[in-house]
Amino acid sequence: MYTIVYKKHDKTSLVDEDGCFTVEAGEELHGKNVLADGNNKVLDMLGSNVLHQELFEHSYPYDWRTDKPVIIRASRQWFIATEKIKERALSLLEDIEMSPPRYKQDMSGLLRGRPYWCISRQRAWGVPIPDKENEPAFGIDLLRYWAAYNYQDNQVSLGPSILKKHNTRLLKISKVLRYLVGNIHDLDSSDKLVEYTQLLPQDKYMLHFLYQFSLKTTSAYENYEFARVLNRTENFIDELSSFYCHVTKDRLLCSEKYSVSRLSALTVFWYLTDTLLHTLAPITPHIAEGTYSSLPIIQGERSVFKSGWFKCDPSWNNPGISEVMEIVLGLREKFYYALDNNSQAKEFDVVIHTSSPLRNCMKVFQPEGYPSCTSPLNEVFQAAVTTVLGKPPPILPDDSQIVSGKWPFKHKDGTSKEEPYTLVILPAENHKCPRCYRYLAASSTQPCDRCMEVIAGQWADY
Ligand SMILES: [Zn+2]
Repeated sequence: MYTIVYKKHDKTSLVDEDGCFTVEAGEELHGKNVLADGNNKVLDMLGSNVLHQELFEHSYPYDWRTDKPVIIRASRQWFIATEKIKERALSLLEDIEMSPPRYKQDMSGLLRGRPYWCISRQRAWGVPIPDKENEPAFGIDLLRYWAAYNYQDNQVSLGPSILKKHNTRLLKISKVLRYLVGNIHDLDSSDKLVEYTQLLPQDKYMLHFLYQFSLKTTSAYENYEFARVLNRTENFIDELSSFYCHVTKDRLLCSEKYSVSRLSALTVFWYLTDTLLHTLAPITPHIAEGTYSSLPIIQGERSVFKSGWFKCDPSWNNPGISEVMEIVLGLREKFYYALDNNSQAKEFDVVIHTSSPLRNCMKVFQPEGYPSCTSPLNEVFQAAVTTVLGKPPPILPDDSQIVSGKWPFKHKDGTSKEEPYTLVILPAENHKCPRCYRYLAASSTQPCDRCMEVIAGQWADY
């Protein structure tokens, strides 16, 4: 049912901000809602002047956030008399750097073409998105995440499937953050943080990676490239969860609680968390603040917004460790490639023999000669036992697999030479440890030596 009320040249609104008739509409209508009792009253008042009445369905604007009908009414607004400041504004615009640059063109077009510019807004933002999915939704953080992704786009789309896609991304980030934070609860005082020089090489590598990430995201923020910040963060999170969180799992779960090697990984977890939360804070403030305030060893401000920008120590920039890691990861890939789909790396012992330049380079991950189940190389390989040798073992068992190749090794003088390597992959000699599930135990009924030591240490504490 519809009613049209028309009064020429009247500039006062007869409807107030609550959608009810004002006193100017007359005593009979005053205070009545225009879409409900007010509407009926108008029909009443028209009385016998109404010639015909019938129900008619027509489209009507509805607000998508509240799902309620929209009332169109005249209201007071603020305008800028653009005409009066046009020339000065256009000349000032010349000196402004805009990101993306095309917005400057748009702005100058608007300034030239409009005599008045309405600057008042009536929208009340911040109505939460209804959570109809099974996955938890991140409310306003999700909207901000979406907005940051589309910041530089002219045409922006929004709908349930787009929000779901961003929600999945945000869910992955928050899962990794929860994992990091869950682990660093053992860092109950800042004196447990390990000095950089004492960190394991794979931990130094991760800090190098974090340092590179921090440079890139800081520069993206400086250029207002928010989508790039998020892309880099998502890639970093992927690498973090598929590589670093994965290889350090055994160290964190099964090593002695306050051993240097465990605290070394936790130190890196701490810097990862701190940097990631500060990186995310401008875009997803609730996730960042909620997580930051739960951290165990914050000194000073407990708000991510009052603690300044993150600080990545320039000493973390370590291209040397990154070059060695490239070789180690390259050899690991050859090892993994040789495994069939039903086998896991931990079910094998690996003997690596290489030319001396490769061996010298890798000795920071594992020195030549001794089998190890704890070396950095062993952790990155995730094998049962690893050994680095100058020569291949004299006798190879029948069930061993051999992988040979050449690695393009960069020498210090800048030249590159193909250096040979061979991997001997053997079914693990030891049994599965009932505590850590690694193939390191002398029999399947007793824990491996490392686990025995940790258990004995725990008893000693009581
Ligand atoms: Zn064990």
